[in-house]
Amino acid sequence: MISIQHDDLHYFRFDGLPHNGVAQHAVFSRQGGVSSAPFNSLNMSMSVPDERDRVYANRRRVYGLFGRDTETVVHAHLVHGDTVARVTQADNGTWVEHVDGLITNQPGTVLSMNFADCTPIFLYDPRRHAIGLGHAGWRGTVVDLPGAMVRAMTEHFGSDPADLVAAVGPCIGPCCYEVGEVVISAVESAFDRPETLLRLPDAGHKRAHDNDHRFFDLPEANRRNLQNAGVKTVEMSGHCTACRTDLFFSHRAEKGKTGRFGTVFALL
Ligand SMILES: [Zn+2]
Repeated sequence: MISIQHDDLHYFRFDGLPHNGVAQHAVFSRQGGVSSAPFNSLNMSMSVPDERDRVYANRRRVYGLFGRDTETVVHAHLVHGDTVARVTQADNGTWVEHVDGLITNQPGTVLSMNFADCTPIFLYDPRRHAIGLGHAGWRGTVVDLPGAMVRAMTEHFGSDPADLVAAVGPCIGPCCYEVGEVVISAVESAFDRPETLLRLPDAGHKRAHDNDHRFFDLPEANRRNLQNAGVKTVEMSGHCTACRTDLFFSHRAEKGKTGRFGTVFALL
């Protein structure tokens, strides 16, 4: 990812995704907003007990970078499922209910989602001029939300998965994502060679001899979902949100007392 400082805002772009007259995108860090701790400072979400005026001020800064505001981007009420909605300009300013994937091929539509450890998924089809933005925590990952996004783009826009350019954004990494039996068995059911996604604790770790715990490689699992759906090009952010709470909000590392950082994908 490319790191960009713009006044107080610090955000990231993927090398492989367009940021030009065709489409624009950004993954925002937590820096450059007006919220106070533990939402410091660029918290985008009202699902945490931050002050409304501050969240709206943060949103103005983030969406303003795209010449937009809260009323002119599409939002989603995320539910950790595999439902994908096709949206258009008419959905700008609305909250799409019960979805974790948004796709569009209509210029002027701006997709937005907020995160704190779950995986941001970006999809771009240069041939069909279409984009997708998704949200996959462990639940969305084991039900293959990224694959559902690819299939929805094929169904609605005629996308060939081999044409798609994908990016996996900052999420909690295998260094920090300790999981128990429920997640382990879900990953074992969902993936081939699950042992390669579930690392044993290092010797010396407090749970080194506890057979019920593993470290789940969430970004790699989503890369595999995309590849299994036929996507050839997947760029990885390389950032762990829990390691980098200076840059990102992390639900796990901050024990739930934190905000949400923003992502935006605009089709022009
Ligand atoms: Zn980490």
